[in-house]
This record gives sequence, C-alpha cells and structure tokens, in this order.
Amino acid sequence: WVPSTHPVVFRWLTGFAFAEILPPSSVVYAGSCDKRVPLQRRTPVVDLHDLGKVEYTSAGGSVKDRIAKRMVEEAEREGKLTPGYSVVIEPTSGNTGIGLAMACAIKGYSVIITLPNKMSLEKEAALRALGAEVVRTPTEAAFDSPESHIGVANRLQREIPGGIILDQYRNVNNPLAHEYTTGPEIVEAVVATPPTGERSSSGKVDVFVTGAGTGGTITGISRAIKKKHNKDCIVVGVDPKGSILAFPDTLNEDGSGEQYVVEGIGYDFVPDVLSRDPADVDQWIKTSDDEAFAAVRQLMRHEGLLVGGSSGSALSGALRWLHSDKGRAIAQTEGANVVVLLPDGIRNYMSKPWFLKMALEAEPTPLAHRIAEVLKTS
Ligand code: PMP
Repeated sequence: WVPSTHPVVFRWLTGFAFAEILPPSSVVYAGSCDKRVPLQRRTPVVDLHDLGKVEYTSAGGSVKDRIAKRMVEEAEREGKLTPGYSVVIEPTSGNTGIGLAMACAIKGYSVIITLPNKMSLEKEAALRALGAEVVRTPTEAAFDSPESHIGVANRLQREIPGGIILDQYRNVNNPLAHEYTTGPEIVEAVVATPPTGERSSSGKVDVFVTGAGTGGTITGISRAIKKKHNKDCIVVGVDPKGSILAFPDTLNEDGSGEQYVVEGIGYDFVPDVLSRDPADVDQWIKTSDDEAFAAVRQLMRHEGLLVGGSSGSALSGALRWLHSDKGRAIAQTEGANVVVLLPDGIRNYMSKPWFLKMALEAEPTPLAHRIAEVLKTS
C-alpha cells in the first residue's frame, strides 16, 4: 500500500495493485507566498475498466482544492487580499469552500461560506473546523434571488468591510486551474501508462467524462486535452436530471425542476465559466440519483474506491454514453482510453441517508449468514 500523500498511478492486475511512484517533486507547494499551502496538485489515475482520476486524495478531499489555490494566489498577485483584513466570501456546494478555508487558514484571511441546505453536514463541519463561518441558504431559492447562496454572499460582501467574492462561477482561474493542472496530469498518466497483456492502449485520451457544477473542471480539462494532446477527444458532460446545464436545452426537459440529492453538480443557471460550446463539450448525458448511487456502490465494492455521489454520476454517465451509437463504436475500439474524473470522496457524505442505506442496509450475504451460524453454535 502506498500512502495517499504520494502521487501514484495504480494499475489493477488480476486482483492486486502495483503502484508506480512519481518523483516526490510532483507534490507541489505554493512557492510565492510566505506560508506554503500544501494543497496537493497531483492525484492518482487508476485503471477501472476505463480510467478514473481520483480527486479525493487531494488535501481538502476534492477536485476543488485546485481552483481554491489558484483563485487565492491570483487575487494575491493582483493585490486584492490583505492578511488580517480581507474576508473571503464564497457561495459554494462546499468543496470550493473547504479548499478556500484551508488556504485562508494558512494565509490569515477570514472566510464566510454560503452553503445551500442540501449540502452535507460533513462539509459544514470541515469548514467550521477550518475556522470558516457557514451560512446555510434554502436549496430551492433561485440563483438570482436574494435568499440563494449567491444572493446571500452578495449581500454580505456589500456590508462587510474587507469582503471579497473570488467568484468561482465567473473567475477564469477556475477553468485555468484545470487547464494547467488536472488536464495535463490526465494526459501525462495516460501517455505514461504502457499497454499490458490485459489491456492495450491507444496512448491517448480518447474520451473524457465528468459532471459539471460551475463547469470549470470540464471546460479546463477539455481545453488542455483538445489544444495540446488530442483534438479529436470526445468530451462528455454529465448533468443531473432537474438541472439545466446540458446542451441542447431539450435534454433538460425530462425531470425539469426536479430536486436531486447528488451534491456539487447541476444548477438552475449556466455559469460563465462553463463552456456549452460543442467544440469544448461534445455531448451531454443526463443522469438520475439512483443510477449515480448504484455506480458509487460499484466503485466501492469492485474497485475499493471510497468516492462521493458525483463520482457515481460521472461513471454512470460514462457507462450510459458507452451504450450510445457513438459510444458503442469507442467501446469496441481496441485500446481506447475513456477517462472519468471522480471529484470527491465518501467522507463528505457519511451521514447522508443514501449512503447509510447503501452501507448498512445491504442484503445479508452468504458469509453473514455463515457468521451467524458459527456464532450461534460456538
Ligand atoms: N462534484 C463535486 C462533489 C463538486 O463539489 C463539484 C464542484 N461544484 C463538482 C463535482 C463539479 O465541478 P465544477 O464546479 O468544476 O463543475
């Protein structure tokens, strides 16, 4: 077993894993500040049937550490932040908030996170533990109402001296963080992973799949892959039923306005940083909570990966796409690499009913029956 702080590339072979440890220099620190922010940039790419980019190994537990680090550092470079005075205020589904709270704890900025009610208690606890103030907002409030997480953040910013919203929905450093780090890491891992007896490889990223919240992840990674690696890569966006991010809009009609449980993806408005240009995101797939959570269970049971709900959305979206006409052609292509980004881990969702049900209310297995028999007779 390799400690998760080491950037690793895992490959599963007939039931056990070996790890290839990249040079320690690949753990990247923020060099330009007085205090160093050890938000890990490199995360492992693991071999599922396809490839999974595992973001929960990042220091704050999600893909959003990357943008938090970049948005804070760029704001510092522009002279917008003053230690002991600035109050970083951000509307988020929690993970960006955790990344920001980590960076700001080290650098001496106060933090207020506005967080819709549906987001997990675990995220709020992590935020408060890092010293952030958390303001809960009604999940059902429209994005442009004064009660929404965005509306409340704007009100607080207007009234609180030193208040600044780095604004992940509009900040170019959100997609750029992924264009400069996540995307190149994926390309590098795929190029560096040699074919094995079990698995051939085209040597390139043929398909990339992930969900969208702000859209920074999918937009930035798509640009990194298409500009510098494989312009023909097919980028597939995953959007929960009830959200309106998928393109064309007709895809969003089924389940329109429906509430969904999965956190971190989907919105009732299209953020500026999300490119719906088919040149960046070739195709969109809508997914349900049920199929997302079933995919989470698969990733846990069969791959040993303790991923969060939106990872299940991404995987189920990828599987659904692979059953489409275009997807079937890829599925039958020898060596095609389909990379699925897994944004965070289950530690964010331990108290959520969907997870507790999955973990604790599973049907008893034959082994459980046998244990009961043994304990009864001995
Ligand atoms: N999954 C989770 C758990 C997230 O917190 C986020 C961030 N909102 C995403 C997926 C989507 O990332 P992005 O905002 O870059 O689209």
